[in-house]
Amino acid sequence: MRIVLVGPPGAGKGTQAHFIASHLAIPRISTGDIFRYNVANNTELGVKAKEYMDRGDLVPDEVTVAMVRDRLAEADAKAGFLLDGFPRNVPQADILKKILADELDQKLTVVLELVVDEDEVVRRLSGRRTCRRCQRVWHVLYEPPSQPGICDDCGGELFQRDDDKEVVIRHRLEVYSSQTSPLIEFYADEGILVGIDATGPVEEVTDRALSALQPYVG
Ligand SMILES: [Zn+2]
Repeated sequence: MRIVLVGPPGAGKGTQAHFIASHLAIPRISTGDIFRYNVANNTELGVKAKEYMDRGDLVPDEVTVAMVRDRLAEADAKAGFLLDGFPRNVPQADILKKILADELDQKLTVVLELVVDEDEVVRRLSGRRTCRRCQRVWHVLYEPPSQPGICDDCGGELFQRDDDKEVVIRHRLEVYSSQTSPLIEFYADEGILVGIDATGPVEEVTDRALSALQPYVG
């Protein structure tokens, strides 16, 4: 089974990718992991990618694509994989389709989209409070400390990280949806898009995902 997982920031994509891949016994291939591997091992592509990252620039598509291509050609990906974080846009999706067809004689089985309500993401992320001293993360609604603003573990002061501020979260969601809508449309046109509701407890979302994928297992 060859799966691409897409979903907005705050949808718990990394967690779901992990559970789904291990349940289906296929490798989870995340671009973050591939980057770290190549950089840590000083591969030719890793060295190239690091030059961009050190300058604070985005790593260009061709470097990312080359890394993904190498990874997909490895033995453990022959029987299937779950891609997390790639493709990010339609040009990358086009290239992926070509790599799979021309070099590996494969095609994607299904694209699973995690669908969440934006307000729900904002509620979940903007309620997070981090301890200045021990870095533990609390939540004003779901995991409140016994005294507001103070860490139960160490007595440290809690604060809201910039990444957890509503305006920042809304901006990231906007960027995501403007970049990803065309990608979602691309896969819908290919007839391989399946969306699931990714709101609620992690285990329920995993169950929904596995049920949605069931018709494709085989
Ligand atoms: Zn603390």
